[in-house]
Amino acid sequence: MAKILIVEDNALNIKLFCDLLAAHGHEPNAVTDSRLALDAARQFSPDLVITDIQLPHVSGLELIRMLRKDDELSEVPIMAVTAYSTSEDEERIRAAGAQAYVSKPISVVRFAETVEQLLNQKDEPATDDSANDVSDGPGPGETGGEES
Ligand code: MN
Repeated sequence: MAKILIVEDNALNIKLFCDLLAAHGHEPNAVTDSRLALDAARQFSPDLVITDIQLPHVSGLELIRMLRKDDELSEVPIMAVTAYSTSEDEERIRAAGAQAYVSKPISVVRFAETVEQLLNQKDEPATDDSANDVSDGPGPGETGGEES
């Protein structure tokens, strides 16, 4: 079981992510206001942070940079969830400090696989970037809400 912090402004996506993570035996905790995310992360001390990129107030990219600079949270794996899908966007997300991203609408299978991969990589050097391979598009398990 892992503690997973979700930062997402879309209620349907929060429900989907929480249900998925709970079904995999994890303990999700969601924050809708990204201005509260850093404090929530310090308090919750998650094993993984999942953040939307398109967020009001503090964007996902800004939040990722803030987490990377935080003394306690700089090593926590970060998975971005984003409607962006160009390679330029991927580069910006990776440059900010996220280990992986999953495109919206999310594939349930890919979402779950990427979460497990990041949790398992925690104690190993991060040399495998296959978690970012989104080239085959949404699969039959596709679901997910509209980007808000
Ligand atoms: Mn959003």
